[in-house]
Amino acid sequence: TVEEHVNEGRVIFSEGEPGDFAYIVKQGVVDLNTLINGKSVRLTRFTEGELFGEMALLDKSLRSGTAVAATDTVLIKIPISYFERYINNPGDLAQTLLSVLLTRYREMRGRFTALAQRSESSDISFEYTEEPQRTAIETHHTTSKIQREIDLANALKQQQLALFYQPIVDVKSQAIVGCESLIRWIHPDRGMIPPDEFIGLAEDTGLIVPMGKWIIHEACKARNRFAEHIDNIYVSINLSPIQFESPSLVRDIESAFVSTGVKPNRIYLEITETTLMLDPLNVANILNDLKRLDAVIALDDFGTGYSSFSYLHRFPIDILKIDQSFVFTMQDNSRSKEIVRTLCSLATSLGMRTIAEGIERESDLHLLNSFAADFGQGYFIAKPMPEEDFVNFLKA
Ligand code: C2E
Ligand code: CA
Ligand code: CA
Ligand code: CA
Repeated sequence: TVEEHVNEGRVIFSEGEPGDFAYIVKQGVVDLNTLINGKSVRLTRFTEGELFGEMALLDKSLRSGTAVAATDTVLIKIPISYFERYINNPGDLAQTLLSVLLTRYREMRGRFTALAQRSESSDISFEYTEEPQRTAIETHHTTSKIQREIDLANALKQQQLALFYQPIVDVKSQAIVGCESLIRWIHPDRGMIPPDEFIGLAEDTGLIVPMGKWIIHEACKARNRFAEHIDNIYVSINLSPIQFESPSLVRDIESAFVSTGVKPNRIYLEITETTLMLDPLNVANILNDLKRLDAVIALDDFGTGYSSFSYLHRFPIDILKIDQSFVFTMQDNSRSKEIVRTLCSLATSLGMRTIAEGIERESDLHLLNSFAADFGQGYFIAKPMPEEDFVNFLKA
């Protein structure tokens, strides 16, 4: 996808041509014209944030009008392949596109009919009318989503993504044993963007797969650098459920292990209950493959999902991560406290270790120690930080 500057009066595409691109008006105004009785007539006008030229892509028909820049205009050009992904794999975006398209088409047809009835006259002109509000909102929703995806795809290419690291300590000795890698988007205009604001988009668009590959590779390389300071340190990597739908996940992880020379059992792979419930048989197979590579599997946010304890033995899980929502409240809420205590003893009896998240006070560490929790992380120990700060933290 590229940006294109078009001067006033220039033709963007012509009626009757095959279409390879759709466009979003980033700045300016574009008219869609057609020839009627040899005269160019404006069918509609597109302004900032609007999508046009999509119709020819959706059914591979020829352009039904000529698009002309009505002012100096900046366009985002979206190749046909972008849409094919959605059409072959329909989701809310494809549905929105189709609904925008159909509404627009019906409205145009209505105008054509009215026009044909009205005039033998050579002086054809008809007014640009506002599209129905619903379409405008949906169009806006669609185009802003496409723009955010383009932004995010560029972020990956332009190295705006960075891994931060949060230390994980042994609850008893408080010595550092590992860290969790947590992604950040360092946006040139918007500053640091937390993962909750873009992981969902990356998942919806499939971008999480190449992004996840990059994360795995980076985290493995970083582990080797951290090991210069703490010999046996491990690095945790978060895996999205969508990565488990990619047939290359095991291969990608193996190749990161091989190319970085990292010790696989010093890489913890964090998955969630959502991943387990996705396609349990397939996920169990993948996890077994990852165990054969000698990676360690941690179940993240444990206790917040839909699943029950009974299915746990079906998966090769080494570590339970106790969700921070229980840890935050365990000192004030006896129910949370009992949940944490129970999860710790459950893990022990299943031969798993525990990591407690969300340790914000020193007293949390003491309570967790009394429950025999193994590891812990949280703001009391340290917040996630850039690699350089984390290395200094290791040296301190
Ligand atoms: P998560 O995996 O449950 O990560 C723990 C989150 O809790 C992190 O937020 C961390 O900064 C925060 N946290 C840790 N200790 C404390 C504490 O003591 N108090 C409080 N209030 N918060 C604490 P973050 O970095 O914003 O990440 C949010 C979520 O985004 C993660 O939740 C994870 O689901 C996702 N995420 C982050 N990095 C990645 C990644 O590389 N890949 C994928 N797929 N998801 C990621
Ligand atoms: Ca995690
Ligand atoms: Ca978590
Ligand atoms: Ca979480």
